[in-house]
Amino acid sequence: MKSSALSRIDLIVRALTYSQANAGIFRGEQMRILLCGGAGYIGCHTYATLSERGHQVAIADNFSNSSPEVLTRLRQLSGAPVPFHRLDLRDKPALEALFAQESFDAVIHFAALKAVGESCERPLDYFENNIGGTINLLQAMRGAGVRRLVFSSSATVYGDPEQVPVNEQARLQVTNPYGRTKLVVEELIGDLCRSDRDFRAANLRYFNPVGAHASGLIGEDPNGIPNNLMPYICQVAVGRREKLSVFGGDYPTVDGTGVRDYIHVVDLARAHADALDYLVRADRSLTVNLGTGRGISVLELANAFSSASGREIPYQIVERRPGDVAEVYADPGLAQQLLGWRAEYDVDAMCRDAWRWQSMNPQGYQGG
Ligand code: NAD
Ligand code: UDP
Repeated sequence: MKSSALSRIDLIVRALTYSQANAGIFRGEQMRILLCGGAGYIGCHTYATLSERGHQVAIADNFSNSSPEVLTRLRQLSGAPVPFHRLDLRDKPALEALFAQESFDAVIHFAALKAVGESCERPLDYFENNIGGTINLLQAMRGAGVRRLVFSSSATVYGDPEQVPVNEQARLQVTNPYGRTKLVVEELIGDLCRSDRDFRAANLRYFNPVGAHASGLIGEDPNGIPNNLMPYICQVAVGRREKLSVFGGDYPTVDGTGVRDYIHVVDLARAHADALDYLVRADRSLTVNLGTGRGISVLELANAFSSASGREIPYQIVERRPGDVAEVYADPGLAQQLLGWRAEYDVDAMCRDAWRWQSMNPQGYQGG
């Protein structure tokens, strides 16, 4: 009797605290959002979208795979200084100090190492950075009572899917240490949601993000030789690389080359804002695919890029890349149903915007 009365009081207190915490947000006011890894490719585009929507956004990053120049560009875009904290997620005291010093309504967690090949060579570094860093972040959030998280997951959690398009019910399997970090973090977040009834999380499984902001001020700027197709094509077009190596011409696909679901990074950025709105509005957690639902082959992308840029993309078909799968594209229906989100940009827009970024910044951010 005593304990059920207590639990009723507890419930009422929780409800009151919750509604106070959300009062402003439900009226459509700004959220204070921390972007961990926000200086990176997807993070900086998301910063631009969230700022446009009137949110107060801050970035935390250690620049392990990004450049301080991004902050200058974001300032140019948004017309205001960019709140920034130079911080490594592996540094737990620094994270806790940040959460003690600032108030946030939500966190978007982009910060991770993401090169598949490197993850096979240095798996422990990937576990430490991607899993260890996330645990520190979740603990710091818990300590500060921040209970909304959007996590950058990946279609890599589906491994080699049994059928396409891939929906969220597909079997999960990982084929490399990078993929394992994504799956483990999704599971950690799931356990946290089960243990804390007020914690809400969105796992966003990105397919293949490409393209750039229409301003040409921000875009993808990989270190060294690009691992991914679109930045490689961009560097061929701008003369930094001689020709594209097409990894495999004998897949059972439309033209023998690998098929993926390329999604414009600005569409992807918008999905983060929509996912945050969902966490507040629906007060539920979710896991969704973010893709267009359309498969594009390597040669189709190279041809589309050639038309968009007016540059020839010389290529040579070489051996398959170990670990690659033939065809992966999303069923993005759940994201549409839950978030009201769907990709708007087609492959021509992706190529046009990627080319604008690359031609305005032939050496990436380095050129200043
Ligand atoms: P990115 O490398 O451009 O951005 C990641 C950012 O995180 C970088 O600025 C990096 O400096 C920062 N970072 C990494 N470790 C950190 C740490 N310990 N502390 C602080 N900052 C740290 O990558 P991206 O393409 O913008 O990807 C963002 C997220 O989306 C990543 O988690 C990635 O795994 C995931 N993802 C990316 C793709 C893709 O193709 N780009 C596809 C699926 C999922
Ligand atoms: N690819 C290629 N040449 C490259 C890079 C990639 O032919 O220099 C192919 C790759 O085999 C795959 C597709 O392009 O079929 C997309 O590769 P990416 O690494 O961009 O994405 P992921 O394979 O991780 O989905």
